[in-house]
Amino acid sequence: MTASLLSDANRRLARALKHVQISEDASERLQFPKASLKVSIPVRMDDGSLRVFEGYRVRYDDTRGPTKGGIRFHPNVSMDEVQSLAFWMTFKCAAVNLPFGGAKGGITLNPKELSKFELERLSRGYVDAIADFIGPDIDIPAPDVYTNPMIMGWMMDQYSIIRRQLCPAVITGKPLGMGGSQGRDRATGTGAFYVLQAMLPKFDRVPAETTVAVQGFGNAGSVIARLLFDAGYKVVAVSDSRGGVYCDRGLDIPSLQQFKASTRSLKAVYCEGTVCNLVDGHDTLTNEELLTLDVDVLIPAALENQITADNAAQIQAQYIFEVANGPITSEGDRILEDKGVYVFPDILVNAGGVIVSYYEWVQNRSGLYWTEAEVSDRLKTKMIEEGEKIWRIAQNLAIPLRTAAYVHALERLEEAHSARGTRD
Ligand code: GLU
Repeated sequence: MTASLLSDANRRLARALKHVQISEDASERLQFPKASLKVSIPVRMDDGSLRVFEGYRVRYDDTRGPTKGGIRFHPNVSMDEVQSLAFWMTFKCAAVNLPFGGAKGGITLNPKELSKFELERLSRGYVDAIADFIGPDIDIPAPDVYTNPMIMGWMMDQYSIIRRQLCPAVITGKPLGMGGSQGRDRATGTGAFYVLQAMLPKFDRVPAETTVAVQGFGNAGSVIARLLFDAGYKVVAVSDSRGGVYCDRGLDIPSLQQFKASTRSLKAVYCEGTVCNLVDGHDTLTNEELLTLDVDVLIPAALENQITADNAAQIQAQYIFEVANGPITSEGDRILEDKGVYVFPDILVNAGGVIVSYYEWVQNRSGLYWTEAEVSDRLKTKMIEEGEKIWRIAQNLAIPLRTAAYVHALERLEEAHSARGTRD
């Protein structure tokens, strides 16, 4: 039987605890989510029938500030997954020094099966169900897998209707016209790119001689693939949930983005064969095949649990940048470590999304809105600053980068926990 995601996440915590002085009280508390809510959301479907969906919201730890984390719409959403994702958010916000704790939410469904109106009713119904659990100073949701600015806009509007006042700071990742921040939609991929650009030169790697495979071509994966392409890296493989394309000479990422936007599937792009310079010499591959390609850099940017005890030994990449949350299991980690693979962990690499969410929340509360350049400058500075700190901890303590990121986060969490006391 596979261990639960949360117990796997806790294994990482246990490992980091060996390298950091933290009180027993704090380490005990951090193993349990503070509050977990499960709700039923009845939705009137377009055909007149009623369907009930299951939704979740978990606030993991709020010692450093109101909790923060996205809302996921996906068939695999469960309480265990949401709790683990909320755990990761706690460490992510601490690792990059945001004044937030960690949270996560989700609804179990395949959003591709719902019409736009059904999705709107579902999103508003979810907010009706969790309204007392969230708030600008309590818990602030945001987008995650298969949710987007439009959905955040509906949710903010619904919350504002319930409170009978405009509450833009209750949710981030909103459309620009509803108080969203410049640069938020591209923030996860952009932040990951800044970290990669700061880290690879430490190994004397230059873009033109570096091959990259990206698993996932959604909001995060397609943005980083494009930035890498523009910076001269050879992106040889990309995939979406239906499979991917490979070319040893490097893919034309801008055309793939265009075709993905019109056909919604990379494989369809390939099969239609309509992209100039795409079909000739290019091949399709599965998501599993992409992970074990002979490339320098592997970027899992889809879902969790992609690299496990089953396939870690076959990984050929020397550097992995985790743009997805939790793409490697703790068993997978051990195998990669033995092989000498450098894993740049999710709680650093994909923190760009929540960092710009923080900037959005600050802008909503102050009423002063920043330019795109201001947002990306601040994002870049923060990603590099915290990335370098984590790098130094890993070097000084001779520990893997993931453990170093947890150590870094734990030091900040301990400071807050001990300052606040036990509250018992
Ligand atoms: N869903 C993103 C994450 O996993 C962003 C969360 C946020 O912006 O609050 O980090």
